[in-house]
Amino acid sequence: MLYRVIDASELPSLVSAFLETYEVIAPVKSGMSHAYSTVESFEEIALDYTTTITPLKKLFLPVRETLLTFDTETNDVTEYSEPVAPRVVFGAHACDINALNSLDLVFRDGPYPDPYYTARRNATLIVGISCMPTDTCFCHLWGSDEARFGYDLFLQDIGGKYLVSISSVEAANILEAACSPREATDEERAEFRHVTRRRQEAFNKEIPDIQEVAMLMDAFHSDPFWEELGGRCLSCTACASACPTCYCFDIRDVRTPDGKHGSRERVWDCCMNPQFAVVAGGHNFRPDGRNRVRHRMYHKLNGFLATHDRMLCVGCGRCVRACKANINPIEVLKFFERKGADDAE
Ligand code: SF4
Ligand code: SF4
Repeated sequence: MLYRVIDASELPSLVSAFLETYEVIAPVKSGMSHAYSTVESFEEIALDYTTTITPLKKLFLPVRETLLTFDTETNDVTEYSEPVAPRVVFGAHACDINALNSLDLVFRDGPYPDPYYTARRNATLIVGISCMPTDTCFCHLWGSDEARFGYDLFLQDIGGKYLVSISSVEAANILEAACSPREATDEERAEFRHVTRRRQEAFNKEIPDIQEVAMLMDAFHSDPFWEELGGRCLSCTACASACPTCYCFDIRDVRTPDGKHGSRERVWDCCMNPQFAVVAGGHNFRPDGRNRVRHRMYHKLNGFLATHDRMLCVGCGRCVRACKANINPIEVLKFFERKGADDAE
Protein backbone atom coordinates (compact mmCIF):
# COMPACT_ATOMS: atom_id res chain seq x y z
CA MET A 1 0.00 0.00 0.00
CA LEU A 2 1.28 3.45 -0.93
CA TYR A 3 0.53 6.47 1.29
CA ARG A 4 0.70 10.10 0.22
CA VAL A 5 -0.53 13.41 1.61
CA ILE A 6 -2.56 16.03 -0.27
CA ASP A 7 -4.01 19.34 0.92
CA ALA A 8 -7.78 19.55 1.41
CA SER A 9 -7.77 22.43 -1.09
CA GLU A 10 -6.76 19.92 -3.79
CA LEU A 11 -9.95 17.84 -3.53
CA PRO A 12 -11.89 19.94 -6.09
CA SER A 13 -9.11 19.28 -8.64
CA LEU A 14 -9.27 15.56 -7.89
CA VAL A 15 -13.03 15.46 -8.43
CA SER A 16 -12.71 17.54 -11.62
CA ALA A 17 -10.12 15.08 -12.93
CA PHE A 18 -12.47 12.16 -12.28
CA LEU A 19 -15.35 14.04 -13.94
CA GLU A 20 -13.38 14.21 -17.20
CA THR A 21 -13.62 10.44 -17.71
CA TYR A 22 -16.04 9.00 -15.17
CA GLU A 23 -19.56 9.39 -13.88
CA VAL A 24 -18.99 10.59 -10.30
CA ILE A 25 -21.43 9.38 -7.63
CA ALA A 26 -21.08 10.99 -4.22
CA PRO A 27 -23.01 11.82 -1.05
CA VAL A 28 -25.23 14.88 -1.49
CA LYS A 29 -27.70 16.58 0.84
CA SER A 30 -31.16 15.06 0.48
CA GLY A 31 -33.84 16.61 2.69
CA MET A 32 -32.81 16.05 6.32
CA SER A 33 -30.25 13.42 5.37
CA HIS A 34 -27.85 12.41 2.59
CA ALA A 35 -27.96 10.12 -0.42
CA TYR A 36 -25.52 8.89 -3.06
CA SER A 37 -26.21 10.71 -6.30
CA THR A 38 -24.50 11.55 -9.59
CA VAL A 39 -22.79 14.94 -9.33
CA GLU A 40 -21.46 17.40 -11.89
CA SER A 41 -19.13 19.35 -9.62
CA PHE A 42 -17.25 19.16 -6.32
CA GLU A 43 -19.54 21.82 -4.81
CA GLU A 44 -22.50 19.43 -4.84
CA ILE A 45 -20.71 16.87 -2.66
CA ALA A 46 -21.32 16.80 1.12
CA LEU A 47 -18.21 15.06 2.43
CA ASP A 48 -19.11 15.81 6.06
CA TYR A 49 -22.16 13.54 5.86
CA THR A 50 -22.94 10.97 8.55
CA THR A 51 -24.62 8.00 6.82
CA THR A 52 -26.59 7.96 3.60
CA ILE A 53 -30.24 6.85 3.74
CA THR A 54 -29.83 4.13 1.12
CA PRO A 55 -26.72 2.00 0.89
CA LEU A 56 -24.17 1.61 -1.91
CA LYS A 57 -25.61 -1.80 -2.87
CA LYS A 58 -28.26 -0.15 -5.06
CA LEU A 59 -25.48 0.88 -7.47
CA PHE A 60 -24.40 -2.74 -7.92
CA LEU A 61 -27.61 -4.64 -7.26
CA PRO A 62 -30.44 -2.37 -8.46
CA VAL A 63 -33.86 -2.57 -6.82
CA ARG A 64 -35.14 -4.01 -10.11
CA GLU A 65 -33.23 -5.09 -13.21
CA THR A 66 -33.84 -7.07 -16.39
CA LEU A 67 -31.73 -10.22 -16.67
CA LEU A 68 -32.97 -11.43 -20.07
CA THR A 69 -35.83 -11.05 -22.52
CA PHE A 70 -37.71 -13.81 -24.33
CA ASP A 71 -40.08 -14.39 -27.22
CA THR A 72 -42.69 -17.08 -26.52
CA GLU A 73 -43.53 -17.60 -30.21
CA THR A 74 -39.97 -18.23 -31.44
CA ASN A 75 -38.62 -19.50 -28.12
CA ASP A 76 -35.75 -17.02 -28.47
CA VAL A 77 -33.95 -15.79 -25.36
CA THR A 78 -31.83 -12.64 -25.47
CA GLU A 79 -29.23 -12.10 -22.78
CA TYR A 80 -29.68 -8.58 -21.50
CA SER A 81 -26.84 -6.39 -20.37
CA GLU A 82 -27.03 -2.69 -19.81
CA PRO A 83 -23.75 -0.95 -20.70
CA VAL A 84 -22.03 0.34 -17.55
CA ALA A 85 -20.11 3.57 -18.03
CA PRO A 86 -16.89 3.96 -16.00
CA ARG A 87 -17.80 5.55 -12.70
CA VAL A 88 -16.35 6.60 -9.37
CA VAL A 89 -18.02 6.42 -5.99
CA PHE A 90 -16.42 9.39 -4.26
CA GLY A 91 -16.64 9.57 -0.47
CA ALA A 92 -17.67 6.09 0.69
CA HIS A 93 -17.28 5.40 4.40
CA ALA A 94 -15.29 2.42 5.65
CA CYS A 95 -18.40 0.49 6.77
CA ASP A 96 -19.92 0.79 3.29
CA ILE A 97 -16.68 -0.36 1.65
CA ASN A 98 -16.64 -3.36 3.99
CA ALA A 99 -20.27 -4.06 3.09
CA LEU A 100 -19.32 -4.01 -0.59
CA ASN A 101 -16.48 -6.42 0.17
CA SER A 102 -19.06 -8.84 1.61
CA LEU A 103 -21.27 -8.49 -1.47
CA ASP A 104 -18.18 -9.23 -3.60
CA LEU A 105 -17.80 -12.55 -1.78
CA VAL A 106 -21.37 -13.47 -2.70
CA PHE A 107 -21.75 -12.07 -6.22
CA ARG A 108 -18.23 -11.84 -7.66
CA ASP A 109 -15.80 -14.16 -5.93
CA GLY A 110 -17.88 -17.34 -5.58
CA PRO A 111 -17.90 -20.31 -7.94
CA TYR A 112 -20.68 -18.72 -10.05
CA PRO A 113 -19.96 -14.99 -10.44
CA ASP A 114 -23.00 -12.88 -11.14
CA PRO A 115 -22.21 -11.16 -14.49
CA TYR A 116 -24.52 -8.19 -13.87
CA TYR A 117 -23.02 -7.36 -10.46
CA THR A 118 -19.46 -8.07 -11.61
CA ALA A 119 -19.76 -5.78 -14.64
CA ARG A 120 -20.88 -2.90 -12.41
CA ARG A 121 -18.20 -3.59 -9.80
CA ASN A 122 -15.43 -3.77 -12.42
CA ALA A 123 -16.54 -0.46 -13.92
CA THR A 124 -16.45 1.35 -10.58
CA LEU A 125 -13.57 2.99 -8.73
CA ILE A 126 -14.09 3.52 -5.01
CA VAL A 127 -12.70 6.56 -3.22
CA GLY A 128 -13.26 6.19 0.51
CA ILE A 129 -13.19 8.91 3.14
CA SER A 130 -12.81 8.78 6.91
CA CYS A 131 -15.70 9.72 9.19
CA MET A 132 -16.67 10.17 12.81
CA PRO A 133 -19.30 7.86 14.36
CA THR A 134 -22.86 8.87 15.17
CA ASP A 135 -24.83 7.52 18.17
CA THR A 136 -26.06 4.57 16.12
CA CYS A 137 -22.70 3.48 14.65
CA PHE A 138 -21.07 0.31 15.97
CA CYS A 139 -18.82 -0.62 13.05
CA HIS A 140 -15.81 -0.75 15.41
CA LEU A 141 -17.26 -3.82 17.16
CA TRP A 142 -16.88 -5.88 13.98
CA GLY A 143 -13.68 -4.22 12.73
CA SER A 144 -15.59 -2.44 9.93
CA ASP A 145 -14.51 1.04 11.00
CA GLU A 146 -11.42 0.57 8.87
CA ALA A 147 -11.32 -0.44 5.19
CA ARG A 148 -8.28 -2.60 4.59
CA PHE A 149 -9.11 -3.29 0.95
CA GLY A 150 -11.94 -2.85 -1.54
CA TYR A 151 -11.11 0.74 -2.52
CA ASP A 152 -8.85 2.54 -5.01
CA LEU A 153 -8.11 5.57 -2.85
CA PHE A 154 -8.94 6.17 0.80
CA LEU A 155 -8.78 9.72 2.17
CA GLN A 156 -8.06 10.02 5.86
CA ASP A 157 -8.78 13.54 7.12
CA ILE A 158 -5.82 14.72 9.23
CA GLY A 159 -6.94 18.33 9.58
CA GLY A 160 -6.72 20.47 6.44
CA LYS A 161 -4.91 17.61 4.72
CA TYR A 162 -5.65 14.04 3.74
CA LEU A 163 -3.44 11.01 4.17
CA VAL A 164 -4.31 9.07 1.01
CA SER A 165 -4.03 5.27 0.88
CA ILE A 166 -3.53 4.30 -2.75
CA SER A 167 -4.33 0.81 -3.94
CA SER A 168 -4.86 1.02 -7.71
CA VAL A 169 -2.70 2.30 -10.54
CA GLU A 170 -5.70 3.80 -12.33
CA ALA A 171 -6.61 5.99 -9.36
CA ALA A 172 -2.96 6.73 -8.54
CA ASN A 173 -2.40 8.16 -12.02
CA ILE A 174 -5.40 10.46 -11.67
CA LEU A 175 -4.30 11.57 -8.19
CA GLU A 176 -0.79 12.28 -9.50
CA ALA A 177 -2.09 14.30 -12.45
CA ALA A 178 -4.67 16.33 -10.49
CA CYS A 179 -2.87 16.98 -7.18
CA SER A 180 0.63 17.25 -5.77
CA PRO A 181 0.84 14.15 -3.57
CA ARG A 182 3.88 14.05 -1.29
CA GLU A 183 5.33 11.73 1.29
CA ALA A 184 3.92 12.07 4.81
CA THR A 185 6.07 13.80 7.42
CA ASP A 186 6.53 12.36 10.92
CA GLU A 187 4.07 15.00 12.23
CA GLU A 188 1.44 13.94 9.70
CA ARG A 189 1.87 10.27 10.64
CA ALA A 190 1.48 11.23 14.30
CA GLU A 191 -1.66 13.22 13.47
CA PHE A 192 -3.08 10.16 11.69
CA ARG A 193 -2.63 8.16 14.91
CA HIS A 194 -4.34 10.92 16.92
CA VAL A 195 -7.40 11.13 14.68
CA THR A 196 -7.72 7.34 14.70
CA ARG A 197 -7.69 7.37 18.50
CA ARG A 198 -10.22 10.25 18.62
CA ARG A 199 -12.55 8.26 16.37
CA GLN A 200 -12.26 5.16 18.55
CA GLU A 201 -13.12 7.22 21.62
CA ALA A 202 -16.15 8.82 19.94
CA PHE A 203 -18.21 5.63 19.62
CA ASN A 204 -21.39 5.43 21.68
CA LYS A 205 -20.32 3.64 24.88
CA GLU A 206 -23.90 2.60 25.65
CA ILE A 207 -23.74 0.04 22.83
CA PRO A 208 -22.45 -3.12 24.54
CA ASP A 209 -19.15 -4.48 23.28
CA ILE A 210 -19.90 -8.22 23.19
CA GLN A 211 -17.14 -10.15 21.47
CA GLU A 212 -18.52 -13.70 21.42
CA VAL A 213 -21.74 -12.76 19.59
CA ALA A 214 -21.73 -15.65 17.09
CA MET A 215 -21.47 -18.21 19.86
CA LEU A 216 -24.19 -16.46 21.91
CA MET A 217 -26.52 -16.52 18.89
CA ASP A 218 -26.30 -20.33 19.07
CA ALA A 219 -26.50 -20.49 22.85
CA PHE A 220 -29.70 -18.41 23.06
CA HIS A 221 -31.36 -19.68 19.89
CA SER A 222 -34.50 -20.81 21.78
CA ASP A 223 -34.72 -17.95 24.26
CA PRO A 224 -38.15 -16.22 24.67
CA PHE A 225 -36.33 -12.98 23.74
CA TRP A 226 -36.87 -13.78 20.05
CA GLU A 227 -40.63 -14.01 20.57
CA GLU A 228 -40.60 -10.62 22.27
CA LEU A 229 -38.33 -9.02 19.63
CA GLY A 230 -39.94 -10.67 16.59
CA GLY A 231 -43.47 -10.14 17.91
CA ARG A 232 -43.00 -6.40 17.39
CA CYS A 233 -42.07 -6.77 13.70
CA LEU A 234 -44.37 -4.96 11.27
CA SER A 235 -43.01 -6.85 8.21
CA CYS A 236 -42.34 -3.52 6.49
CA THR A 237 -38.89 -4.74 5.21
CA ALA A 238 -37.38 -1.27 5.75
CA CYS A 239 -34.45 -2.84 7.63
CA ALA A 240 -33.38 -4.96 4.66
CA SER A 241 -33.85 -2.16 2.12
CA ALA A 242 -31.62 0.14 4.19
CA CYS A 243 -29.04 -2.55 4.96
CA PRO A 244 -25.88 -2.42 2.83
CA THR A 245 -25.39 -6.19 3.09
CA CYS A 246 -28.92 -7.64 2.65
CA TYR A 247 -28.72 -9.12 -0.82
CA CYS A 248 -31.68 -11.49 -1.27
CA PHE A 249 -33.75 -11.14 -4.41
CA ASP A 250 -36.69 -12.68 -6.24
CA ILE A 251 -36.81 -13.59 -9.92
CA ARG A 252 -40.02 -12.91 -11.86
CA ASP A 253 -40.98 -13.50 -15.48
CA VAL A 254 -43.06 -10.57 -16.70
CA ARG A 255 -45.00 -11.03 -19.94
CA THR A 256 -46.50 -8.46 -22.25
CA PRO A 257 -50.35 -8.33 -22.28
CA ASP A 258 -50.50 -10.41 -25.49
CA GLY A 259 -48.24 -13.02 -23.91
CA LYS A 260 -45.85 -13.06 -26.87
CA HIS A 261 -42.86 -11.43 -25.25
CA GLY A 262 -41.50 -11.07 -21.78
CA SER A 263 -38.56 -10.35 -19.56
CA ARG A 264 -36.96 -12.00 -16.56
CA GLU A 265 -36.68 -9.47 -13.76
CA ARG A 266 -34.61 -9.53 -10.60
CA VAL A 267 -36.13 -7.52 -7.74
CA TRP A 268 -35.01 -7.00 -4.15
CA ASP A 269 -36.65 -9.35 -1.69
CA CYS A 270 -35.84 -10.19 1.91
CA CYS A 271 -36.36 -12.69 4.68
CA MET A 272 -38.50 -10.18 6.61
CA ASN A 273 -41.15 -10.53 3.91
CA PRO A 274 -43.77 -12.97 5.33
CA GLN A 275 -43.99 -14.74 1.94
CA PHE A 276 -40.23 -15.19 1.59
CA ALA A 277 -40.04 -18.75 2.95
CA VAL A 278 -43.28 -20.07 1.44
CA VAL A 279 -42.68 -23.18 -0.66
CA ALA A 280 -44.82 -25.26 -3.03
CA GLY A 281 -47.83 -26.66 -1.20
CA GLY A 282 -48.16 -23.45 0.80
CA HIS A 283 -45.93 -24.35 3.75
CA ASN A 284 -44.13 -21.38 5.28
CA PHE A 285 -40.83 -22.24 6.95
CA ARG A 286 -40.74 -18.91 8.79
CA PRO A 287 -44.39 -18.09 9.43
CA ASP A 288 -44.03 -15.52 12.21
CA GLY A 289 -41.99 -12.51 13.28
CA ARG A 290 -40.04 -14.53 15.85
CA ASN A 291 -38.66 -16.86 13.18
CA ARG A 292 -38.06 -14.13 10.62
CA VAL A 293 -36.27 -11.67 12.91
CA ARG A 294 -34.17 -14.42 14.47
CA HIS A 295 -33.25 -15.72 11.02
CA ARG A 296 -32.15 -12.30 9.81
CA MET A 297 -30.07 -11.61 12.92
CA TYR A 298 -28.63 -15.10 12.75
CA HIS A 299 -27.46 -14.61 9.18
CA LYS A 300 -25.92 -11.24 10.06
CA LEU A 301 -24.23 -12.26 13.32
CA ASN A 302 -23.47 -15.94 12.90
CA GLY A 303 -24.27 -17.69 9.61
CA PHE A 304 -22.25 -15.53 7.22
CA LEU A 305 -19.30 -15.63 9.61
CA ALA A 306 -19.31 -19.42 9.46
CA THR A 307 -19.22 -19.50 5.66
CA HIS A 308 -17.27 -16.33 4.78
CA ASP A 309 -15.21 -15.62 7.90
CA ARG A 310 -16.73 -12.18 8.50
CA MET A 311 -19.87 -10.73 10.09
CA LEU A 312 -22.50 -9.77 7.54
CA CYS A 313 -23.45 -6.78 9.70
CA VAL A 314 -21.00 -3.88 9.34
CA GLY A 315 -22.55 -1.82 12.15
CA CYS A 316 -23.63 1.08 9.92
CA GLY A 317 -26.70 1.74 12.07
CA ARG A 318 -29.09 2.23 9.13
CA CYS A 319 -31.55 -0.38 10.39
CA VAL A 320 -31.44 1.24 13.84
CA ARG A 321 -32.94 4.36 12.29
CA ALA A 322 -35.13 2.59 9.73
CA CYS A 323 -37.00 0.20 12.03
CA LYS A 324 -39.98 1.79 13.76
CA ALA A 325 -40.26 -1.22 16.09
CA ASN A 326 -36.72 -0.84 17.45
CA ILE A 327 -35.52 -4.19 16.13
CA ASN A 328 -31.82 -4.13 15.31
CA PRO A 329 -28.47 -5.75 16.23
CA ILE A 330 -27.94 -3.29 19.10
CA GLU A 331 -31.05 -4.72 20.80
CA VAL A 332 -29.52 -8.19 20.40
CA LEU A 333 -26.25 -7.00 21.96
CA LYS A 334 -28.18 -5.47 24.87
CA PHE A 335 -30.00 -8.77 25.35
CA PHE A 336 -26.68 -10.62 25.56
CA GLU A 337 -25.42 -8.02 28.01
CA ARG A 338 -28.50 -8.57 30.20
CA LYS A 339 -27.98 -12.32 30.03
CA GLY A 340 -24.38 -11.84 31.16
CA ALA A 341 -25.58 -9.71 34.09
CA ASP A 342 -28.24 -12.32 34.99
CA ASP A 343 -25.64 -15.08 35.03
CA ALA A 344 -23.36 -13.01 37.24
CA GLU A 345 -26.07 -12.60 39.92
S1 SF4 B 1 -27.89 -5.11 10.05
FE1 SF4 B 1 -28.26 -2.90 10.41
S2 SF4 B 1 -26.35 -2.12 11.30
FE2 SF4 B 1 -25.89 -4.13 10.38
S3 SF4 B 1 -25.16 -3.65 8.30
FE3 SF4 B 1 -27.38 -4.02 8.15
S4 SF4 B 1 -28.34 -1.98 8.36
FE4 SF4 B 1 -26.19 -1.80 9.05
S1 SF4 C 1 -37.52 -5.58 11.80
FE1 SF4 C 1 -38.34 -3.47 11.79
S2 SF4 C 1 -37.78 -2.59 9.78
FE2 SF4 C 1 -37.51 -4.84 9.66
S3 SF4 C 1 -39.45 -5.61 8.83
FE3 SF4 C 1 -39.66 -5.70 11.07
S4 SF4 C 1 -40.56 -3.73 11.65
FE4 SF4 C 1 -39.84 -3.47 9.54
